Amino acid sequence: MTTALPLPLLSVRGLSKSFVHRNWCGRVIRHIPAVADVGFDVARGRTLGLVGESGCGKSTTGRLVLRLIEADAGDVRFDGVDIRAAAPARMRTLRRDMQLIFQDPYSSLNPRLTIGGLIEEGLIVHGVRNRGEREDRVAAVLRRVGIRPEYMGRYPNEFSGGQRQRIGIARALVLRPRLIVADEPVSALDVSVQAQVLNLLAEIQEEFGLTAVFIAHDMAVVEHVSEEIAVMYRGRIVERGRTEEVIADPLHPYTRALLDSVPSLRPRAPRRARPARDDTDGERGGGGCPFRARCDLRMPICRMVPPNTEVRPGRVVACHLHQGQAG
Ligand code: SF4
Repeated sequence: MTTALPLPLLSVRGLSKSFVHRNWCGRVIRHIPAVADVGFDVARGRTLGLVGESGCGKSTTGRLVLRLIEADAGDVRFDGVDIRAAAPARMRTLRRDMQLIFQDPYSSLNPRLTIGGLIEEGLIVHGVRNRGEREDRVAAVLRRVGIRPEYMGRYPNEFSGGQRQRIGIARALVLRPRLIVADEPVSALDVSVQAQVLNLLAEIQEEFGLTAVFIAHDMAVVEHVSEEIAVMYRGRIVERGRTEEVIADPLHPYTRALLDSVPSLRPRAPRRARPARDDTDGERGGGGCPFRARCDLRMPICRMVPPNTEVRPGRVVACHLHQGQAG
C-alpha cells in the first residue's frame, strides 16, 4: 500500500501575467509578459528560493502568489484553497496567513507612524480589539526580532537599515502567518548586516514552522536559506531542484552563469554562458528559448520554447539539452 504524500502548503501551476503598455493617449501598444507558465510547490515548513536577475519576474511571482496583483492565468493553492477564486471575505482571512516582507526597509515603513503603531495596524485590521492584547503582542514580536519593546513609541527614522528590516519582519510576524514571501529582504542592507537578518529569518522560520518563498538575485543568499531553488529567467522558471543538487550540478546554462558570478559557490567552474547583459533581442517568453541570445550551447531546435523536463524526481529543467532525459 502506498502512503499519500502530504499536500504542499503552496502549490502554483501555469501562473502567467502580462502588463499592458499604453501610449500617451491611453491606447494599448502591447502586452509585456512578466511571468509565463510558472509552477512550483512549497512543502510545509520549507523554503523555496526564487532566484534570477533583476526584472526576471520573481517579485511579480511573489505578488501573484499573495494575490496582491491579479494573474491572467494559472492556479495558486494555499493549503488546498484556490486563492484566485477566493471571495473578498475569504481572502481577508487568508491574508492573515500569508504575509510579505518587503525589500526596502526605508520606504516600506510609514514615517508618520511609530513602530508600535505600524506593527499594531495588522492586528487592528484583522479584528484584535483588545488594546492590551495588541500591545502585548507587539512587545513580544519586537523582543523576538531583537528590538527593545520600550522603543515602540519611536519612529522609523530613528532606526538603522538592519533594525528597520527587523521591524518589517516583526510586522509580518505579528499576525502569526503560515506563509511568508520575503522579497529581496536583505538586498538593501550593508553586507555586514545581511548575515544577521538572514540568521534571524532562519531562526524564526524554524521556531514558528513557517513556510517561505525567498526571493533574491544573489545565489549565495538563496543558498543560505532555501532547501529548494527555482531559477527564473525572463518570466519563466528554467531550473528547479534541491538546493545542494542545483549548486553542485547546475543543468541549465543560465543557472551556470548565475553560479559562475558567485566565485565562492563554484570556485573552479569554467564559464560556459555569456555574462549577464541586457539582451533585448527576442521577445520575452516567445521566439524560442528565452536564453537563446546569451547561450553558447544553442542549437537550431532552440528556436522552439523548451518544455519542462523532470530529469529526476523534483529536478526540473527547461532546456533542449536535457529533453528526452526524463527520469
Ligand atoms: Fe541554450 Fe538551447 Fe538550452 Fe536555451 S534550450 S538554454 S538556447 S541549449
